[in-house]
Amino acid sequence: MSHVFPRHCHTSLATAVAGDGCYLIDKDGKRYFDGSGGAAVSCLGHSNANVIAAIKQQVETLAYAHTGFFQSEPAEALANLLIENAPGDLDRVYFVSGGSEAVESAIKLARQYFVEKGEPQRRHLIARRQSYHGNTLGALSAGGNALRRKKFAPLLVEMSHIAPCYEYAERHETESVADYGLRVANELESEIQRLGADSVMAFIAEPVVGATLGAVPAVPGYFKRIREICDQYGILLILDEVMCGMGRTGHLFAHEAEGINTDIVCIAKGLGAGYQPIGAMLCTSHIYNTIRDGSGFFQHGHTYIGHPVATAAGLAVVREILDNDLVEQVRSRGEFLDKALKAALADHPHIGDIRGRGLFRGLQIVKDKATKASFAPDMGIAAKLKKAALSEGLICYPGSGTIDGENGEHILLAPPFIASEAELTEMVEMLRRAIYQVLPV
Ligand code: PMP
Repeated sequence: MSHVFPRHCHTSLATAVAGDGCYLIDKDGKRYFDGSGGAAVSCLGHSNANVIAAIKQQVETLAYAHTGFFQSEPAEALANLLIENAPGDLDRVYFVSGGSEAVESAIKLARQYFVEKGEPQRRHLIARRQSYHGNTLGALSAGGNALRRKKFAPLLVEMSHIAPCYEYAERHETESVADYGLRVANELESEIQRLGADSVMAFIAEPVVGATLGAVPAVPGYFKRIREICDQYGILLILDEVMCGMGRTGHLFAHEAEGINTDIVCIAKGLGAGYQPIGAMLCTSHIYNTIRDGSGFFQHGHTYIGHPVATAAGLAVVREILDNDLVEQVRSRGEFLDKALKAALADHPHIGDIRGRGLFRGLQIVKDKATKASFAPDMGIAAKLKKAALSEGLICYPGSGTIDGENGEHILLAPPFIASEAELTEMVEMLRRAIYQVLPV
């Protein structure tokens, strides 16, 4: 019996014992193609020699030094590399241990910024429904996934939620794509006005929605309008690129595709690529300087911020991505994957939509393609697909239905950037078999 507290108390899982390129290997020697990089984490696969060497070297030299006493070389080098390659005015980096911590830091930074600026009445954070920003209480409060929130609702901080930009499910037939984008972006303005223009501190959104909707980018123009509204009302834009950042969508920072700049961005998963737990929050020098010139320090912190081994791993990961032109490779392999998925599955009567960007792809599972209706959540189709895929030797990430099937169900794919076209073809074939097994035609 395992004494590890698993996520699902009733499930027993295979034991992973090794990683090899794009594959994980269990105790029985079975190989699994990591088609979702876990949860969009393992962007370099599982046995990258340079990252492993960097970790070994760092842990042998300096395992840990508290940031209250010391800076560390890998943290400085990683911050420099990120800033050199970040768009817009992003200029400072705050390292944490994962995505939820990055989002918590962003929310608290936004709040402290306005306190230091002499606008303490700004306290509202506006987020979007059907979003995911993490599982700690602040990040969960920001998230708009009803099922994940339900049990904890009395503990959550009150935040506002507007509509996501989810064209497939929510654009009216009579509306152009551009009009739809403007309509949903303008919900931000209405919500700011409802709350009181000078009481809002920030808006948070995922540029490409990951876990909750399954690789859904916004329509063109949506984020431009969001940026305009933020500027008009003096509120901060926080982009959560924990899942979609670090090259996953064919840009190092996902919002580069939108032609906008952000005030704060959160990254994690692909930053450590699974070799170390690490996340980061990047902000502009304007925000940083406001705090520096105010109380002088960000009233926040965790024991492991700027951890030398984690930042050494992050440094090696980002170098691998940049030195090997992996962002460009993600774009071309992403197009290849999109075509392969559509060729194999677009005709399936229960695959309603195949979408995404780069090597971040989602398949919407529907009961009826014409009405876009979902299967009843208690049928657990996505969970069954995950199981069938695992037996085929494929790891894919299911987005199971939430309350009342609010989001429907999807399968998320986020294969390693190093996956070859042949491996992607094989991945699609395994997925096709799993889908036809669970949803025979
Ligand atoms: N934000 C987004 C967009 C995420 O996808 C996730 C994780 N799925 C998080 C935040 C939370 O990250 P973590 O699980 O590392 O705390």
